[in-house]
Amino acid sequence: MNSHEMHPNDPRLHSWIDSANDPKSDFPIQNLPFGVFRHVSGHGQPAICVAIGDRILDLRGCQQDGLLDDLAPAIQEACTALSLNALMALGRGAATALRVRLSGLLRIGQPTTRENHRKVEQLLTAADEVMLLPPAVIGDYTDFYASVHHATNVGKLFRPDNPLLPNYKYVPIGYHGRASSIVVSGTPVRRPGGQSKIADATAPLFGPSNSLDYELEVGFFVGRGNKLGHPISIDRASEHIFGLCLVNDWSARDLQAWEYQPLGPFVGKNFATTISPWVVTLDALEPFRVPAFQRAEGDPTPLPYINSREDQALGGLDLILEASLSSQAMRDRAIAPLRVSRGNMRDLYWTMAQMVTHHASNGCNLRAGDLMASGTISGSTADSLGSLLEISRRGASPIQLPTGETRSFLEDGDEVIFEGWCEREGHTRIGFGGCRGSVLPARK
Ligand code: MN
Repeated sequence: MNSHEMHPNDPRLHSWIDSANDPKSDFPIQNLPFGVFRHVSGHGQPAICVAIGDRILDLRGCQQDGLLDDLAPAIQEACTALSLNALMALGRGAATALRVRLSGLLRIGQPTTRENHRKVEQLLTAADEVMLLPPAVIGDYTDFYASVHHATNVGKLFRPDNPLLPNYKYVPIGYHGRASSIVVSGTPVRRPGGQSKIADATAPLFGPSNSLDYELEVGFFVGRGNKLGHPISIDRASEHIFGLCLVNDWSARDLQAWEYQPLGPFVGKNFATTISPWVVTLDALEPFRVPAFQRAEGDPTPLPYINSREDQALGGLDLILEASLSSQAMRDRAIAPLRVSRGNMRDLYWTMAQMVTHHASNGCNLRAGDLMASGTISGSTADSLGSLLEISRRGASPIQLPTGETRSFLEDGDEVIFEGWCEREGHTRIGFGGCRGSVLPARK
């Protein structure tokens, strides 16, 4: 078989961009995640791009240079847009076709012309010479609570006698978050102020949060939307998912504890949410799909509208997730970030398809570029907990940093770093790139 006929996920493919063939690279030719960039100088319009090794490829440039002429006009037009929304709205087939074309342009052995090769070279930029912007204009943001381990751990801390509420195993729980405060990796996050009440006090006080935390989550962008009043069936749900990113749902636990009853999270959450800049497509993740979470004996079967054989067979994703922490003192002494947990998305109780289907089950319309997030991903072991709240057991057992500092929650100057990747024997490792943010002191 020559490379012309090979699937974009085929592990035998190599790129003529050497850095993409490094087995440690997050962005081999089998990945090709989409993003939006602008030159560091700030000159020029943003453009959509894909990552390949240590470079980014400008897709507007590709369109203008005729490299995408074989693709449908709507796809070509979407490549000239300032965000990924237009491409997302065209549905998964469009992204698939574009990915196949880009893989052809970037692989070794493709019978592409010398002229095309030269054009592509002109449209590559070193990733460290560009600014990555939020990949989409996010109209709406919904955060789920799909990890049963996280829900149980948090439930124990806040309601020791009643940790997991009776609806949890029937209905994917979520809340509508705030899209306006979603920022891209690298944007500093200001410690929020808010109301909190210490246990013995008779009244709350307003002041800077004393228990700022991160939540390690995976996000997924809606591709093609659905019309208001038209639910999405479980078997069609994955057609409405464009791709995935990493999400840090920063959380002020003291504000959250005081406000969360009766209506759920509000200002304890909506001051900032950080997303990684690259959107890894479902196509690229196909080799890493796994069965949905194995429910415990005695757990209810999901209701029929969120239960399908196909989703149960392959609705999960084997995605490894790591959180690391770096304090100002650690950086001053050139000490590497400390890994504080390693989890896996396959531990989620609900699949992405179940979350999408449930979200639209009442006719709620999802739109291209909407962001959904999984909720904190925690596993069943002590080293797989996706928040400091769980790791420190709400401050009862602080973690020790290599400098001798301790942390129950985040201090000013701390940087939180998430990494995510998929790997499996016989397939090329796919990475997500990092999702970082550091904490600025509260505004005086
Ligand atoms: Mn969350």
